[in-house]
Order: sequence, then C-alpha cells, then structure tokens
Amino acid sequence: MRICYVVAMVAEAKPFIERYGIKEVEGFFAPLPCLLYEGNVNGAILDVVLNGQQQGSDLVGCEAASVATLSAIQRLHPDIIINSGTCGAFRSNGAEIAEVYIGNGVMFHDRRVPGDDAWGTQSLGNYPIWEGSAQLAQTLGFKMGKVTTGSSLDMQPCDLSIIQEHGGELKDMEGAAVGFVCSLFKTPILYVKSVTDLCDGGAETFEEFSRNLHHACETLKKANEQIIEYLTQR
Ligand code: SAH
Repeated sequence: MRICYVVAMVAEAKPFIERYGIKEVEGFFAPLPCLLYEGNVNGAILDVVLNGQQQGSDLVGCEAASVATLSAIQRLHPDIIINSGTCGAFRSNGAEIAEVYIGNGVMFHDRRVPGDDAWGTQSLGNYPIWEGSAQLAQTLGFKMGKVTTGSSLDMQPCDLSIIQEHGGELKDMEGAAVGFVCSLFKTPILYVKSVTDLCDGGAETFEEFSRNLHHACETLKKANEQIIEYLTQR
C-alpha cells in the first residue's frame, strides 16, 4: 500500500515527518517547488508531498496544491491521497479550535461564475471523496464536515453565502484543488483538517490562525497517527 499526503505548510507537515522519521528525497520534483519525504510505516510506503516554498514562504493555495497533487499522482501512483492541513470552521456548527475533522465533501466557495446550471455546477466542483471516509471517521471518533476552498484567508460576505447555501463547514485554501486533480485520476482522496480559527468567532482571522497554528498541528499529527494505523491495519 502506498499512502501519499499532500500538505501546504511546513508547520502542518513537520510534526508528522518527525514522528515517522521520513526523509526528504532531494530534487525529486525539480524544477517544481514541491518536496517529497518518504519512508515506511507498518509495511506501507508513506509519502508526504509538500507544496514547497517561494520567496521564503510556504506556497499555500490552489495552484501549488494542484501542481503538487498532479506530480504526486503521476510520479508516485499512490493508493490514496490524504490532504491534511488546517482550516477555519464555524462556532455555530459546534467547532472548536484544534478539533480535527474528516471531510465528507469538497467544493469551491469563491468561484462565482454566471451562466447555466452546468457551468455553475462545474465551477463549484463538488468532487468525490474516498468512499471509506465515513467509516474511518466513525471508527476513530472524528466529526465530519464539508470542506470548501477559496484563494483567500479572509471571508467575504459572498463567500459566506455560498458556504451556507451548500452546507460548508471547513474553510481552507487547497482542498478542492487536490480533489479536482484526484477526480481526474479517480484516486481516492481523504481530507483531514484541524481547526485554527473560527470564521464566525469575531477574532481577526490571521491573528487567530497564527496563535493556534502550533496547537492545531499537534492534534493534526495525533489524528494522522491514528489514521495511518487504521489504513495500514486493514
Ligand atoms: N502567511 C500565512 C499564510 C497561511 S494561509 C502563513 O504562512 O502562516 C492559511 C493556510 O491554512 C492555508 O493553507 C489554508 O488551507 C489554511 N487555513 C486555515 N484557516 C483558514 C481559513 N479561515 N480560511 C482559509 N484557509 C485557512
């Protein structure tokens, strides 16, 4: 079995890379910015693909996530892609800081494209997720929520109305891009998201995100340990 994580930020991946002692395969994706870490866990190959950096900061967002996912699938042929990272969530849905969710759907919330129904539907995405996601969440005791993706950290009123209309719960900047690429290859995709900020909590998002990033990445690492055990023992 080959499990491949696609992760945007070093902070999100580092606790996890250190926990498994997996090593960087230098230059694997050159000249692309994405980075590969690889090792073995319980007889499975564990890959972690990071989006990489530009100008000294992590390449968050859809473009880099698409490049990383495409490269990962074409070069590594994983059995499953896991998009692990942080997200905003809603206090009104009962979310708490550093709580880890499993995705039960994925779409874009900032693609406002007028036209017929087919055009609008295509823009929103709503890509398939790995069919075992619900069973995994139930067995390991994680809540589930719908991931919605946009290109900004902040949330404009028009984003919120699309999120509410479609039952979005976990707001990120990569999920749907990863899901789009996985849908092209029919590669199963599992979402693991830890909450750094509450979109309806009244705090300034970047300040709240920065304050909680470390804590959220620790719970994310613990969740991923459980998930890797679960996947490799099946
Ligand atoms: N300059 C910041 C950028 C972080 S962007 C830094 O380097 O620390 C936020 C990242 O966390 C993205 O990868 C996104 O997927 C996720 N994220 C966390 N909270 C989010 C929110 N409320 N909205 C959108 N993305 C969020």
